[in-house]
Amino acid sequence: MNSFQQESLADLVSHPVEWNCLLSQYTSFSIGGPADAVVKVDKIDELSGILEFFAKEKVEWRVIGRGTNLLVQDSGFPGVILILGEEFRAISSCSGNNPNDTDVRVGGGCSLGRLALNCMERGLTGLEFAGGIPGTVGGAVIMNAGAWGSELSSVIENLTLVTDAGERVIDRKDLNFGYRCWHDYRKFSGKPIVVEVAFRLDWDEPGKIRAYSQTLQKKRKEKQPGSYATAGSFFKNPVNDSAGRLIEASGFKGVKIGGVQVSENHANFLVNHGGATAADVLTLMCNIQEKVKRDSGIDLEPEIHFI
Ligand SMILES: Cc1cc2nc3c(=O)[nH]c(=O)nc-3n(C[C@H](O)[C@H](O)[C@H](O)COP(=O)(O)OP(=O)(O)OC[C@H]3O[C@@H](n4cnc5c(N)ncnc54)[C@H](O)[C@@H]3O)c2cc1C
Repeated sequence: MNSFQQESLADLVSHPVEWNCLLSQYTSFSIGGPADAVVKVDKIDELSGILEFFAKEKVEWRVIGRGTNLLVQDSGFPGVILILGEEFRAISSCSGNNPNDTDVRVGGGCSLGRLALNCMERGLTGLEFAGGIPGTVGGAVIMNAGAWGSELSSVIENLTLVTDAGERVIDRKDLNFGYRCWHDYRKFSGKPIVVEVAFRLDWDEPGKIRAYSQTLQKKRKEKQPGSYATAGSFFKNPVNDSAGRLIEASGFKGVKIGGVQVSENHANFLVNHGGATAADVLTLMCNIQEKVKRDSGIDLEPEIHFI
């Protein structure tokens, strides 16, 4: 960015801009070089102004959530990373004080775990599967995040998107989700940002919801590698098979390249044991893909997104 663009950006936002900021601190993998700038945006007007400015000045940008499904290259990102702040983290009921209303409206920057907990406490069922999935609601929409046979798309009522051309609400019937993806995302010009999501849930007893959520959390703890830096499941599961099973069958469990290792607990998790680079991860990824293809004929497609 040139100095005019830097000054203009700083004027457009209420939070201080983080210049030349290492993205490793914004990803759960703890990997990634610097972005020109990281900007936290608190308000919708601010966001619209920034997007208009980026479009006019042809500034590269990308929005991220909690970076829990991302691999950022070692050379970083030559542009601005946007993070949704305050106003985009709110949870509310869709139609005011109607106690019978099971719709929940939530900002794209809200933590998915916080939303699941909030719904559980209010006796709203439908998001228990999401309780242990890290990241934001916006990120979970783009990924169509899911677990235990459920996925986010099944409870979405509508989405509010913001682009440099303005705001737009998309109804559930016009949303075209797939396995760990929202197929139509790229169809919307101007890289839409998911700023709000309305969910349609059901009532149930909070105690029952809590018990079910706890069972799922326990299963998750048993299956996944503890507190390592990771981006979750690295590859999508092929139809009628599991990426973890294929990777293990090809002899990769525990295999290490540089600082990154195929988890001993769950072969579809790559974990950063400290100092791993994106180059390490990409080398290991290619080795796994080649060997699994040779052994089983199956092409493993990454689930994670790349910057
Ligand atoms: C330990 C661990 C366990 C996990 N378990 C699961 C699991 O069980 N199921 C599952 O599905 N996933 C799982 N994941 C992966 C990840 O948590 C989910 O995909 C999550 O939904 C990503 O959310 P995020 O906010 O971190 O998105 P990010 O990783 O920040 O971004 C993901 C993509 O969404 C885009 N994006 C983010 N926010 C927005 C927005 N508001 N508008 C437009 N685009 C946006 C980004 O540009 C990027 O392309 C796991 C990850 C970890 C680390």
